[in-house]
Amino acid sequence: MSDPDPLPPPIFTPEHRLRDYIEAHKFVPREPGKKSGWYAASKLGDCIRANYYRFIEMLPEPEDPQFVTERAPIGKAWERIVLDWFRNAKVLTPDHEQVSVADPELRLKGIMDALIEDEGILAPVEVKSIDGMNSNDNYGIWRSRPKPDAYLQLQAYMMMRKAGHGYLVYSSTQDVGDWWMWRTETDPATQRWIRDRLSTLEIYRGLGGPPPRPVKSPSDWKKCGWCAFKKPCWEAKQ
Ligand code: SF4
Repeated sequence: MSDPDPLPPPIFTPEHRLRDYIEAHKFVPREPGKKSGWYAASKLGDCIRANYYRFIEMLPEPEDPQFVTERAPIGKAWERIVLDWFRNAKVLTPDHEQVSVADPELRLKGIMDALIEDEGILAPVEVKSIDGMNSNDNYGIWRSRPKPDAYLQLQAYMMMRKAGHGYLVYSSTQDVGDWWMWRTETDPATQRWIRDRLSTLEIYRGLGGPPPRPVKSPSDWKKCGWCAFKKPCWEAKQ
């Protein structure tokens, strides 16, 4: 009996190689807790328990599938494009990009995308990219009011800088001309909420355990689905 026909050699076209590469790199491990020991202004809108875990450096296990996708750098790249517009339009105050701000008493810190000279102050600016147009349900919502997480983040910057106003800039990644800018004044109620949240976190830190989970099951809340701390959170007794 003759040997069966050998299998044809595998085809490695550029497309195959690209697919293999992208498949192997589409998830990147979360960075080790650079912000640990501090509360991050950009995460104030997160679950309070996740805020606690982030502070105490409870990082996901290395084998934990909770990895971030490469989408995060896409958002960052888009923000850089928007900041180029600011720079080229001479709106951006020189040397005032990616400015760190911290309040050691509150243990709160963040990196403002920019500071712009406006009405006699340096006003914080937070740039957000938005994905999609009419196909994205959130698009219409964020057109009419800022996303709560971003609003909290900007108010935290304004609070730490003692700035009376600031700006949120949204830009659609699908249409370079589709951008808008929200001016926001100091909002005492929101800034009080931020202080209250930070004091609550400090109380739990003093007690040595995380705040209770806000939901009864991870399936009850969309945020649990992509939370980096899902495993330790739901494996903990309370
Ligand atoms: S898994 Fe859910 S409840 Fe637990 S920290 Fe994350 S978001 Fe909060």
